[in-house]
Amino acid sequence: MRKRCGRMPDVIVIGGGPAGATISRILAENDVDVLLFEKKKIVGLPVRCGELLPHPSEMRRLLPKVKDAEKLIEPPKNTISNVTDYAELIDPMGNKLKARFKSNIIFRDKYDQALIKRAMDAGVIVKFSCPVISVSVNGNIRVKDMGTIKQVKAPVIVGADGPRSLLAAGLRNRNYEFTACFVSIMDNVSVDETAVQMYYGKEYSPGAYAWIIPKGNRMANVGLGIRKRFSSGAKLRDYFQKFVEEHPIASKKLDGGHIINSSSKLVPIDGPFSEVVTKRENMLCIGDAGGFVMPHIGAGIPNALLTGRIGAEAILSYLRGEGKISDFERMWRKEIGTSLKNSLRIRKFTDSLFLNELISSFFQRRRQQYFDHLIRCEFPLSLRLFNFYLNLRNKGKKFVQKCIKTK
Ligand SMILES: Cc1cc2nc3c(=O)[nH]c(=O)nc-3n(C[C@H](O)[C@H](O)[C@H](O)COP(=O)(O)OP(=O)(O)OC[C@H]3O[C@@H](n4cnc5c(N)ncnc54)[C@H](O)[C@@H]3O)c2cc1C
Repeated sequence: MRKRCGRMPDVIVIGGGPAGATISRILAENDVDVLLFEKKKIVGLPVRCGELLPHPSEMRRLLPKVKDAEKLIEPPKNTISNVTDYAELIDPMGNKLKARFKSNIIFRDKYDQALIKRAMDAGVIVKFSCPVISVSVNGNIRVKDMGTIKQVKAPVIVGADGPRSLLAAGLRNRNYEFTACFVSIMDNVSVDETAVQMYYGKEYSPGAYAWIIPKGNRMANVGLGIRKRFSSGAKLRDYFQKFVEEHPIASKKLDGGHIINSSSKLVPIDGPFSEVVTKRENMLCIGDAGGFVMPHIGAGIPNALLTGRIGAEAILSYLRGEGKISDFERMWRKEIGTSLKNSLRIRKFTDSLFLNELISSFFQRRRQQYFDHLIRCEFPLSLRLFNFYLNLRNKGKKFVQKCIKTK
């Protein structure tokens, strides 16, 4: 499969985040000729992430069917900023649920840069500052390189270009839902450095949650998400300001803090698209570009790495004449399908709590044991039954309203 001298590469990867860096590295390690286009000059900047990676010791419960999850999720040592032992869920009244959940808090910029360096060391040709402008169905790519538009082509194209992926536009359902997130790095804060905190409450983070993630040395990653259909129409930045300045608990911890940098980005939260391989079998989407984010929590780095590894296996098998690119659909479902499905169910369940304004009573009853399950993408039977009851109640209400209107 190697080495090209001016001829077309075996695989073109669009995007050099965790998904693109992983798939291209594994392909190059297996002697595949890979060309990667990355629109940024330096990957990972600005930091648009909560920077939390589950500790490798959590992976067996989180993704029980993935054999190499512990190895893939282990960040390079110099990219770890803090290690936390707990996750806390706090409602606006201060009711708190606490679960043991170990996490590595990373420097996301250093992390992305370390992954892309590993890919380059393996032989991937990475073209930085080269945004792909368009991709046609037969795989012709137009890319901007030093001010000029160039045309390139390859037998296999990978969309690893994040939530606004060019390839995904043709595969994604029209009503696909995103959470808009605002994120900042703050210093001089007074937080418990052993616990990640998630704050619920529609006044601060409608349809999602706000977070304070301790980075060590009095620094924290602070951010929140909002969803259009739950929000009052206020701006994302205003919600953030309100959270930092007015939240009865969080504002005390952040008082005197200083924002070093801030940014915003979308997170896909409707799960993977029903198809992530194109009909012509020449393109596939991985990571955020395919919707591979845990919908109830908005975490996507583990799945970006895993779909990178699984995607590489599907492509290798295709290039060796042993399989099809579309085998990727079956392969990812086998390894991470159940966890993603559970996560989407949990997101829909918490949505119905929001809609029914039941989120606080959920806390008041101190559903500690449920939190332990939910944080790990497990959806126990008792919650499924409660969810079934809520859905039925919603449908009943809508039916009665419809009958009243038609009368
Ligand atoms: C505010 C926020 C907080 C988050 N917190 C966490 C967290 O704590 N833990 C977690 O696991 N997940 C978190 N996530 C989700 C996580 O960041 C993503 O799931 C993860 O980055 C997906 O990796 P990726 O490689 O698929 O996409 P990305 O990281 O988005 O990488 C895509 C790459 O493609 C490049 N690109 C885009 N378009 C083009 C183009 N046209 N041409 C060339 N290059 C292109 C981009 O520059 C980028 O480098 C968070 C997301 C947000 C927005």
